[in-house]
This record gives sequence, structure tokens and C-alpha cells, in this order.
Amino acid sequence: MKTEICREESLDIYFDRLDFLLKDFVRFAWTSGPAERVWGPRFSRVGAAVIRCEWMAVKFKLRRCALFHFCDQEIERYSREWAAQRLSWKLLRDRTPRIGTWWLNVRLRRGRPSRTIVLGNDLDIADFEQAWDDQDHESIGRLLGYPQCCRSFFEDVAVRQRCVDTVWAMSKGRENVSSDEFSRSVNGQAASNILLQSLGIRAVPHAPCSFGCRGTALLAHDLMRVAHEIGLRDEYEWLSSILSWPAEWSGLHGIAEIATPIIKICIPTDATGRKYTVRWNGTATPEEGANGLVFPFKLPSSSHNTNALVWPTSAADAAAKR
Ligand SMILES: [Zn+2]
Repeated sequence: MKTEICREESLDIYFDRLDFLLKDFVRFAWTSGPAERVWGPRFSRVGAAVIRCEWMAVKFKLRRCALFHFCDQEIERYSREWAAQRLSWKLLRDRTPRIGTWWLNVRLRRGRPSRTIVLGNDLDIADFEQAWDDQDHESIGRLLGYPQCCRSFFEDVAVRQRCVDTVWAMSKGRENVSSDEFSRSVNGQAASNILLQSLGIRAVPHAPCSFGCRGTALLAHDLMRVAHEIGLRDEYEWLSSILSWPAEWSGLHGIAEIATPIIKICIPTDATGRKYTVRWNGTATPEEGANGLVFPFKLPSSSHNTNALVWPTSAADAAAKR
């Protein structure tokens, strides 16, 4: 099925979409040495655990298929484990742009070519391959266990409107920051926080339709149960912490910047003439988080003191200032 780019349709999501897309890249920087020392190894373990749970969920029959982009060495390593679990797999004909799962991943940006691979049982793989060749996104999403609302969202945003980034679309209807219609503030379940997906940090393998999607939360819960079952409890507790940190996504001229208290990331996004911002408010800031005066950083302790001096909080404080 051929999908035409239609400027009128694009207006649904962006006010001023531009017709170019920057080449793939993922850049990231830790906000401090302690942040990297503590969270660097944890990010690696979480990323590996996420992949393992996504395919073990097929073994546990929580989803029929799993889809990945792997380089040859990874395929060789994982295929031994899949064989031991009696799962089948198949390399798929590559599609451009890549669909059905996250294709922009820092693991794949190290100059190693990757291949698209599906695993499951033989019958489901045959169904999947047919859907893949037909570009039948509804069937692809169903076989991968994605919620129906998110399958429709993907068809609209990624297929019909050809967005490569779904963050602005999934924040639709959320409250504006300081009455700025291009800046939104979101709360919700950590399961729908996909802002760090380019580092392999994700609770679900798909693009959620919103920050409050119930189907996404249920799938994330299933994957967490798998993690607990196969001894990856620590990794999923770290994942839960990371996804609850405050974060800010902003997109301008085709570049998205994602800032968290621990790490900053730069990746391509849909090109727009003005800056769009989504603030994920989060619920906890990590101990190693960087200080700063703007969101999502925490105020340095001296700022708290300054605040207390300006607005004394008790009668004793007030008396001391007279
Ligand atoms: Zn959904």
C-alpha cells in the first residue's frame, strides 16, 4: 500500500511541518561523572533485560511474535538461546523506513549493519511474514501484542502522516505550559514514557497512543512479570526508576533533544519551523541528578536556602528577621 505525504493531513499533528528528515544519529552525554559511573552499567543491564523479556514473553505466550533489529553477532548469540527455548525465527526483507518496532537505537549506530528478525512459532511467523510483505500494520501490531488503540495511532501517525517521532502526537490534549500552545506538560504511567527508547530504555516495544494508555500499562505489567519470573527483578526496578525521572523532549528543525537529570540525548525528529516541547513531569529525581535552574534539573541546595530566606516558613524564622 502506497502512502502519500499530504500537507493538510500533517496539520493534524504539527502546525508547521517541514519536508526534510535528517539522517539517523543518536548522540548522548551523561550530565556528570557520578551519573555515568552509577547509571552507565545499569542502563546497559536494563537494555539487555528489556530485549530478553520482550522475546521471553513469546515463550510465555503473552504475545505471539517479537520483532527486533539485530546485527549479525547479536543474531548468532540470541539464536542459541532461542533454539534452547524451542522458538523459531526468521530474517525479514528490510523495509525503509523501518516499521513495527524501534529502529533508531544507539546499539545500531556503531557502524554495524543490522537485520530485521521475527521470532515466534512457525505458524505465527508465517502469518507475520505475510503481513510484513503486505505492509498490513494492523496485523503486524496484533501479532506483536500491541494494544488496539496504539495500532490505530501508529496507522494514523507513522503510516498516514509519516511521522518518525510520535512524542508530540501522543501528548495531544495535554495541558500547555505557561499558555504556550507549543509546550505541553504531561503526567501518566511510566509505562508510556518512551523518551529514552533510543537508548533501549523502554517498558513496552511499541509507540503508545498516549501517556495514559491503559493497554500499554497492561503490556508493560506483563513484561515486568516475565522479568520477575526469569530473575531480572533488579533491572526492572531500575527501569521503573529511570522512567519516573522528570524529562523534557523538544523538537526543532528536525532535531530532538531529550534532557533528563542524568543524561541528555540528541536524535532526529520530524522537522518543524518552531520549537515543540513536551515535559514529562516524573515523580522522582535520582540522587546523582545534575543541579540546574530549569526543568528537569533539581535546584541546587543553595537555591532552596535562598527561597527560605525570602519567604520565612515559621514564626521563629520571621521573628529572627525582625
Ligand atoms: Zn494505546
